[in-house]
Amino acid sequence: MCSICEKPLVDRAPVVSVLHELPDGYERLDCHPECWKTAPREWEPFSSWEGVYAAPPPADKKETLKKETADELLRHLISLDDPAMKNVVYVLAVMLERSKILVERDAKEQPDRTIIRIYEHRRTGESFIVLDPRIRLENLGDVQSEVVALLSGTKTLGEVSSKPEAAAEENSEAATEVKEEPATAPAE
Ligand SMILES: [Zn+2]
Repeated sequence: MCSICEKPLVDRAPVVSVLHELPDGYERLDCHPECWKTAPREWEPFSSWEGVYAAPPPADKKETLKKETADELLRHLISLDDPAMKNVVYVLAVMLERSKILVERDAKEQPDRTIIRIYEHRRTGESFIVLDPRIRLENLGDVQSEVVALLSGTKTLGEVSSKPEAAAEENSEAATEVKEEPATAPAE
């Protein structure tokens, strides 16, 4: 549905997507290009891009199980908003972009030289706002193996977010609390 005129968006027709910055986050608008051009407004978009609207297909396909897990993890990590996980969040987003699940729509450099990258989910159209922390190349491999460990279920979020040197000092209570169910193996 168009965020301005509230009439339906047509599958595979052009759409303008806009991020409107609010005090507590971002509001995502999807509009007919004409509505966006002509509707009056008193604010400047944080970001906007033109795309092609894809009506959401019926869900639950067995073969997408693995990919769903990766984007579920990204949603979950972003909702946690844990600064200790910023490298993991970014690398996961890049991996999803390489798998053609996400597409980058915009990038905004911050005064501290980090970059806010705006990704869009190709299938669902959701936007993901991810901080690119400018990971040093020599650390990239470590972060990638953490992401892979999270996706395969061999590591929990608690294990990844705590610093390795601090982990030994932490009480064992926390470690047992965050135990997660083993990842279900995808059916062959
Ligand atoms: Zn409209």
